[in-house]
Amino acid sequence: MAKWVYGFGAGRNDGHAGLRDLLGGKGANLAEMAGIGLPVPPGFTITTEVCTAFYDNGRRYPEELDAQVQAALTGIEQAVGLGFGDAGRPLLVSVRSGARVSMPGMMDTVLNLGLNDETVEGLAQSSGDARFAWDSYRRFIQMYGSVVLGVGHHHFEEIIEDVKNELNTLEDTDLDAEAWRQVVLSYKDLVERETGAAFPQEPKAQLWGAIGAVFGSWMNPRANTYRRLNDIPAAWGTAVNVQAMVFGNMGEDCATGVCFTRDPSTGENAFYGEYLVNAQGEDVVAGIRTPQPMSEARAKPGEVSMEAALPDAYRELLAVRDTLERHYRDMQDIEFTVQQNKLYMLQTRSGKRTAAAALRIAIEMAHEGRISHEEAIGRITPASLDQLLHPTLDPKAERTVISRGLPASPGAAAGAVVFTADEVEQRAARGEAVILVRIETSPEDVHGMHAARGVLTTRGGMTSHAAVVARGMGRVCVAGCGGIRVDYKAQTLTAGSHVIKAGDWITLDGSTGEVFAGRVATIEPTLSGDFATLMGWADSLRRMKVRANAETPDDAETARRFGAEGIGLCRTEHMFFAPERIGIVRQMIMAGSEAARAKALEQLLPFQRDDFAALFRIMAGLPVTIRLLDPPLHEFLPHTDADLLAVAEGLGQSLDALHERRAALSESNPMLGHRGCRLGITFPEIYAMQARAIFEAAILVAAETGSPVVPEVMIPLVGTARELELTRAEVDRVAQEVISKAGVTLDYQVGTMIELPRAALTADQIAQHADFFSFGTNDLTQTTFGLSRDDAGGFLPHYIEKAIWARDPFVTIDREGVGALVELAVTKGRGRKPGLKLGVCGEHGGDPASIAFCEEAGLDYVSCSPFRVPIARLAAAQAAMAAAMARAKAPAA
Ligand code: PEP
Ligand code: MG
Repeated sequence: MAKWVYGFGAGRNDGHAGLRDLLGGKGANLAEMAGIGLPVPPGFTITTEVCTAFYDNGRRYPEELDAQVQAALTGIEQAVGLGFGDAGRPLLVSVRSGARVSMPGMMDTVLNLGLNDETVEGLAQSSGDARFAWDSYRRFIQMYGSVVLGVGHHHFEEIIEDVKNELNTLEDTDLDAEAWRQVVLSYKDLVERETGAAFPQEPKAQLWGAIGAVFGSWMNPRANTYRRLNDIPAAWGTAVNVQAMVFGNMGEDCATGVCFTRDPSTGENAFYGEYLVNAQGEDVVAGIRTPQPMSEARAKPGEVSMEAALPDAYRELLAVRDTLERHYRDMQDIEFTVQQNKLYMLQTRSGKRTAAAALRIAIEMAHEGRISHEEAIGRITPASLDQLLHPTLDPKAERTVISRGLPASPGAAAGAVVFTADEVEQRAARGEAVILVRIETSPEDVHGMHAARGVLTTRGGMTSHAAVVARGMGRVCVAGCGGIRVDYKAQTLTAGSHVIKAGDWITLDGSTGEVFAGRVATIEPTLSGDFATLMGWADSLRRMKVRANAETPDDAETARRFGAEGIGLCRTEHMFFAPERIGIVRQMIMAGSEAARAKALEQLLPFQRDDFAALFRIMAGLPVTIRLLDPPLHEFLPHTDADLLAVAEGLGQSLDALHERRAALSESNPMLGHRGCRLGITFPEIYAMQARAIFEAAILVAAETGSPVVPEVMIPLVGTARELELTRAEVDRVAQEVISKAGVTLDYQVGTMIELPRAALTADQIAQHADFFSFGTNDLTQTTFGLSRDDAGGFLPHYIEKAIWARDPFVTIDREGVGALVELAVTKGRGRKPGLKLGVCGEHGGDPASIAFCEEAGLDYVSCSPFRVPIARLAAAQAAMAAAMARAKAPAA
């Protein structure tokens, strides 16, 4: 016979914590607590399989259920010496839902079930407290009436208010037994009026009504929405827990409370929570009375701690706290009730906590010997480290949200609104805090982004220029904030009824995407010793290296501070925008002849050499991958006529000539146009200049430091082996020239980005000419999906909502499509060249789910923005642990 009901407590304990899927979180943990000897009122759990069977069979219960519930109920009666429906010594029960994961939106709790017009008298007599009995009855009708019978909660509240008005009092505590009896009568009338039937008097009918309401609530619209948003399958079902009532509201030696075994906001190893004397469960959270602190140490003047009010029960609870932490080996969130000085445990579960608390608890538990280093690593969600690395909004600060965009680069920043990069730079130089607000950003804005505290754009997705560059710099960024309209002419931004002028303050939360009016206070991060300890443990467990995407000395320093083991991508184009260079770059682009171009390039060479030398010095022998020029040349040309005129004058050319050249360079689809290695092939002198700068810088720094520098030169947007063959030949030629002129030896590598599907499909051919591959998964995602990375924002939410994409593919790698291409390229590349070094440098290199994929695909390293380096180190350790576990589980081949 199928087992549908599991008993717990009082000598009959069928379940344990391992049966969470079957018994739900609450039921499994009640059984577990009872199993380790903690005081749990006896009860039983109706399994999640009943819920599934109920829906599979047209909302009918399995046949044997009734008998099994009856038997379990008899078990409770025997354990506590009371009878369900017994007029003299009535057993009362609670009925609660409990899915595998806690799920708001479902029916939660009905207390005091079993009370009726007869048993209320029995309860009054057996407890010797008529007021308690009638108060319990009215609470039951109120809860059952609203959650099971669907009578509006406010109707019940109105009745209590009327009675209080009649008696001219404000407090529940002033109502005596007779007053509560009057409330009960009015409640019953109300239920009959609203539902057309009398309030059920038969305890069994009440019980099945409540059980039916729990199962029914599994499919209510709120629960369905929550499941959809949180990827919870409907097939999991919920369990129902029926448990003997214990009463925290039977007098001054009774209490009820909710607490955490450690402080959930700081992680401090101190008991943390609240309790109320003479109260029942919901009173603590309902806010009618002010809950009191647990320990004397935390009690403020006027407060009465549980330690002082109920010292025996408190001492018992401290022992339970220790038992639970030792048993579960984690911080717990518990609910308890004290009835006449006796403690009962009603719930335990792993407690929710802030990132700072998670870190401190994991480290301290490992130091206490309760968990291993691996477990400590496994307990921290990598993305949550963001909260520890950036300023965050002060939770106490008041705020007015005016709009919400994409959380493109984390942290919080406040400043005056400025609409141009140049003005940002000027004002920042005067020490002002400013936020750059643009419809979208381009490489021309990079200096302003750098000077700003934060960046807000109204267009673009998670890999738009603004998002990628801001993340790289560690600047706060909210991107694609479609609810805001920017008017450059009027110098305003408008969000609904808020019109914000240039110079007015706004605050950005780049971790949530929220935009606030005015200045909201922020808190600076502190990288405590726990953080460093965790990182050290992660480093000893991971296989993949972690590098950073960085091009400025600032970024490189940050990357090293966060533990980067090299630079995986230096985007050289960002170096071309510095004010003293952009003019030369434009001369180079406008040059009518090869000779004129060569002259301009010669002027650029020393700048580039200094750039690379600075990076080599900071990285001190760690690998540095430098990517040769990638974007189309027109990105470097000015956009306005005024700027264009200035360039024309500088070049001694006419404005018309410039217009003509710009028109000639303009493209319909620049992302698929004249960029990447296509530039290197048509203008080999550009790549030659960059290669020369790299090799000369390497030789210079090696001579300075006495240690070798092994530069890695990377060619972008290769789709054909021949492209790499040709560009590589040019790089090799320059290398030989520089090396022989300097009369030294120099090791270097030349590799390619794999960022086009054709490159992945022909990776074996390309590998012949490459010393390494670096997967450019931004472009690879763009070209595999045929999806512009700058324009996806407009329809992305619809695609996610309709489950066409599970996630934004620019954030988490699409394993089935883009991932398959990466795997193919790995196999083909290493097939041709065993030991070929492989990494990823697209934004996915900092995304924990994508890092897990990289581990499985066998990549050697991931490269990400400097501020994501710690996240990547932790995620790589977790991925290595998961891979080791999978290998251990896999049957031997
Ligand atoms: C990529 O395409 O993944 C990449 C790293 O290059 P970029 O973002 O500069 O195009
Ligand atoms: Mg790219």
